[in-house]
Amino acid sequence: MSEIYDLIIIGAGPAGISAAIYASRARLHTLWLEKKFAQGGQVVNTYEVDNYPGIPEISGMELGEAMASHADKLGMCPVKENVLSVEDEGKIKIVRTKKNAYQSRTVILALGAEHRTLGIPGEEELSGMGVSYCATCDGAFYKDAAAAVVGGGNTAVEDALFLSRICRKVYLIHRREELRADRILQERLNACGNVGILWNTVPVAVEGQDEVTGLKIRNVKTEEEQLLPVDGVFIAVGVVPNTEKLKELMDTDENGYIIAGEDCVTTAPGLFAAGDLRTKPLRQVVTAVADGACAVISAQRYLLQNS
Ligand code: NAP
Repeated sequence: MSEIYDLIIIGAGPAGISAAIYASRARLHTLWLEKKFAQGGQVVNTYEVDNYPGIPEISGMELGEAMASHADKLGMCPVKENVLSVEDEGKIKIVRTKKNAYQSRTVILALGAEHRTLGIPGEEELSGMGVSYCATCDGAFYKDAAAAVVGGGNTAVEDALFLSRICRKVYLIHRREELRADRILQERLNACGNVGILWNTVPVAVEGQDEVTGLKIRNVKTEEEQLLPVDGVFIAVGVVPNTEKLKELMDTDENGYIIAGEDCVTTAPGLFAAGDLRTKPLRQVVTAVADGACAVISAQRYLLQNS
């Protein structure tokens, strides 16, 4: 365990890839770790990305690969190892994997977040083929179609409002008879002519073969089941940041997100949070890559001040 890196980057989603590109150009002695074979993070699951400036109509997989290939050209390729823990020993941080314990002066945490899933039949099979976890990413594909949004929080109501401007009909499926979303959003929703709210209702199964043709739902009070004919199912039942192993190291908010601003500086000196796992108003590829860059600049500044 003698080698000491300037920087360890954990994660190879857009934030981690961007951090690797900036670290290479900054000539930092960097180790990059990613647990999965594929780089690109959550974006690789998106059928088409049409909101990344300069690259219209690219598939999420292609965008992830293009980013990874850019990093590769700069000599940056992640080592495939699953990080088990990060230990903060002051000026030295120890990143443990199953096989190794690495030392570094700084660490960029870019482990991302995962959308909470429902675990119902058809959900996984039709993911990217009508089942989506991101209305702003995929909503444009449902012009004049019928869509269902599952959830009762701010994200679900914002998604329903967003889709109401694109779709012919939107159904909001909520398991209780009261929304969790902010009042102002509820008022906007109520003013929407083409959104129907199905209270006390849970999704049971997503129907379809290669594309979504309907959502089977059940009223939890009457136990009555029905098939809703929809082309898209948007699941907005919360996201879970990948911070379980990191919470002891720094401040997180009530939802588990690492508290950090635009500079990605956390409450633990030398540890930086980039991408979807930090507190921020918009979680998309475009904000994740900005974080990767900002986190490297902050790490460089920290290294200068603590050398
Ligand atoms: P959330 O607030 O946790 O809401 C998740 C919703 O999904 C809840 O209504 C919950 O129902 C429902 N749900 C959870 N598990 C379910 C299941 N297995 N089956 C059916 N329904 C299920 O998540 P979020 O809307 O993604 O928001 C996350 C955080 O970001 C919140 O703090 C939110 O306020 C914030 N946010 C803010 C804004 C904004 O201010 N503009 C926008 C988006 C998000 P119950 O209500 O019955 O628990």
